[in-house]
Amino acid sequence: MTTPEVSLSLAPEHRKLLGSILFPQIGLLTEAPEFEQVLYSRHAETLVTGGVRAGKSSVGAARMFLDIYIRQELTHQQGLFWVVGPNYPQTVEEIRYMAQWARRLGWGGVKYSSPQEGAHSLKIVNKWGDIVVEAKSAVHEERLASKAPDRILVVEAGACSPDVRNYCIERALEKSAPIDYTGTLEPSDLNPQFAWYQEKADEWRDDPTFSHAAYPLPSWANRAIFASCAAALKENPDLAAYCPDENHGEAHSGRLHPNIRRAEEELDPYTFAIRIAAEPVGIQYQVYPQLEDRSKYLRTFNDGPQVAAYGGIDWGSVHPTALAVVTYHPRQHVGITGEYIYTAWVREIVYKTDRPDDINWLRVTKDHLSRKWNIPRMCWRTDPNERFMARTYEGVAVSGSARSRDSRIGLLGSRLDSGALYWDIDGPGCKEAYEEARKVRRKKARSGEIVLDRINDDRTAAIEDALEGSDGELKRPAAAPMRRNYKQIVRRRELQRI
Ligand SMILES: [Zn+2]
Repeated sequence: MTTPEVSLSLAPEHRKLLGSILFPQIGLLTEAPEFEQVLYSRHAETLVTGGVRAGKSSVGAARMFLDIYIRQELTHQQGLFWVVGPNYPQTVEEIRYMAQWARRLGWGGVKYSSPQEGAHSLKIVNKWGDIVVEAKSAVHEERLASKAPDRILVVEAGACSPDVRNYCIERALEKSAPIDYTGTLEPSDLNPQFAWYQEKADEWRDDPTFSHAAYPLPSWANRAIFASCAAALKENPDLAAYCPDENHGEAHSGRLHPNIRRAEEELDPYTFAIRIAAEPVGIQYQVYPQLEDRSKYLRTFNDGPQVAAYGGIDWGSVHPTALAVVTYHPRQHVGITGEYIYTAWVREIVYKTDRPDDINWLRVTKDHLSRKWNIPRMCWRTDPNERFMARTYEGVAVSGSARSRDSRIGLLGSRLDSGALYWDIDGPGCKEAYEEARKVRRKKARSGEIVLDRINDDRTAAIEDALEGSDGELKRPAAAPMRRNYKQIVRRRELQRI
């Protein structure tokens, strides 16, 4: 006897009816229209892009749990469910939700295994057969070749390679198992970001079929947070300026919530689109989209006294060599945004395109800049990948060893968001360096991963290095300077960042 495939054969309106019975019982808020649309849609492959705090883990788990509920309460079928992630820790939240819900419904025979490390699993033991939820890690792709599942959820799908999707499609064939993909669109520091996720999100969004569809789950779909402006206004009455009118309360929920409207005004359109609205906007994108606003960031120097100066070196063995000078000044608007107590200014960029690996030139230029801007020897930084150069050239500390370029990009980006970094329009080489930074982009690599397009970003990398040098040292009032040698500096930084 073949068992009917419940998940695909039930029409959305029937799933919705069942959901209206199930979800209130487990305490899941489903009333937001954006949430509801995602919850009951029915395709062979369904992709959900989630905004910050949108509740994509809840949606992914809820879509799977509705199938489990149908098997457990209505059809009395056994079942095998997979939660696939880039690694085991990222599959934990969804499985934990489902275990909580199963217990909340008072089902007997619920066994939840939650080891400190490795795969979590959920088993609901029944007379007619068990319902099992298993974690699968993309790191162990070969393990995806086991018994065929009835339904698959891929979490943080943007961090899974296209091969993972191929495996899932193969394994889904036998039982026509529906596949869900959830994840964010931003390239994150923890994971690589693969282009297929963004591309499919874009393509399926415009052309939903029985086979596939993509839905954005914007941040404001989370009505646990964005149901009314009342709580937000109570905490900060000034937010009322962002409400659309005087009709405060539930009328200002979702997209109209003052925190969402404020984010829209504060963030650049690209960041708002992918991080909040969860809309795919193409993969050839700027690393620093904020810099489109030239009048804001490229301006005549007009700040207070210089309290510190840092230098960054992007050493070119193949690429050009660039040196950046960043000076720091007491911030006039401390407390408004961000944690920075000093404003940083890019003051001078020296750039050499011919004969890149000219160590003599580098030494002379660095000494000249050190004298001109009063940069102590320990305030020069270079990229960790250029450690060899740094070691052979005493006096240049290596930036935090474990840190990736992405995290340095995060440092520069957050300074821009906080209005704590400017380019001096009159500074030597600064205007050109600004235009370069504005154009630094990511692209799709051969592997399908989204990576930095490392053409013409040397000056920007030097600025990032200088900023990282000051990171952690200029956020709080400066302590009395201590004499350390180069080795101690490096060791201290490595220890701090473990
Ligand atoms: Zn309001």
